Amino acid sequence: MHTRRKVVVVALGGNSLTKKGQRGTIYEQFANTRASVRTLWHLIELGYQLVITHGNGPQVGDFLIQMESAIAQVPPQPLGVIGAATQGTIGYMIQQTLQNHLILEGRDTPVVTILTQVVVDRHDPLLVDPIKPIGATFYTEEEAKKRMTELGWSMKEDAGRGWRRVVPSPVPLEIVELDVLESLLNAGAIVITAGGGGIPVIIEKDGRYEGVDAVIDKDLASGLLARSLDADVLIMLTAVDRVALDYASGHPTWLDRMTAHEAKEYLAQGQFPQGSMGPKIEASVEYLLGVRHKQTRKAIITDHEHLRQAMTGKAGTTITFQ
Ligand code: ADP
Ligand code: MG
Repeated sequence: MHTRRKVVVVALGGNSLTKKGQRGTIYEQFANTRASVRTLWHLIELGYQLVITHGNGPQVGDFLIQMESAIAQVPPQPLGVIGAATQGTIGYMIQQTLQNHLILEGRDTPVVTILTQVVVDRHDPLLVDPIKPIGATFYTEEEAKKRMTELGWSMKEDAGRGWRRVVPSPVPLEIVELDVLESLLNAGAIVITAGGGGIPVIIEKDGRYEGVDAVIDKDLASGLLARSLDADVLIMLTAVDRVALDYASGHPTWLDRMTAHEAKEYLAQGQFPQGSMGPKIEASVEYLLGVRHKQTRKAIITDHEHLRQAMTGKAGTTITFQ
């Protein structure tokens, strides 16, 4: 019987699985995943038990294009179902890549992907306010109108670049599969969970779950996950090695450390944009202010290259309670 070791929740950013300029073939995605797993290996060597989350933006975009081009032959699927599908496809890539690495290292740690649902508030005002763009496709006004009437999509004009599909992005409240996740951790498993932010569900009056057509931010889901599990560390791996103030100004100030309260203050000043760095900082704050053992916990934002150094505070941005 295993006992739970130190737990780290690590969120893999978009560039961990797909790279700019690539078409995203399965070979490219597996190669990128192998490179990402090599950095995760350092955490295993440090004795951490891994809980891995990941984004799914490009993969959902690809699904939507496939769906649109076959609309006459195959009925379109709702977003929640597509989210579930990407938890499977991406989870499989990470799971098998990690298993193969473990096999070559002579270890028998189990690796498992959990199809994860995340409860949102049925009265969350964000549920009726679709603002999160999904898919990389830009449409003309005429194409957009057709999709709004025929497919029921919400579409918005995106800064003169064309029309994009937008979906609601509600606040994650609770991980439905948390108990099973904890038992798998207690059994010594590496767990891949809440991929793409999890499948958003509301709870009906009689207690049943019902999927909603929305997308939960994967960083916010990771923060909730880290808080709910009382994880020791929350790591968000992305394309920059550190967080900056005045990021877009041409002379950014790079931050090695900040407290959760400073982070909250910078958020309020608008230092971190909604669609990118904002949710990572919000997730860190949510985790550090809500977690049981606040004083000893930390959130780290960095890239794959600097993760090793960031674990001892020599690189990356570390956020702590105090
Ligand atoms: P991910 O897929 O990892 O979530 P995002 O593009 O959503 O990646 O968010 C990370 C990006 O946020 C960085 O690559 C950087 O370009 C951008 N960014 C915006 N504001 C900041 C900031 N203040 N400090 C650092 N990076 C920032
Ligand atoms: Mg992001």
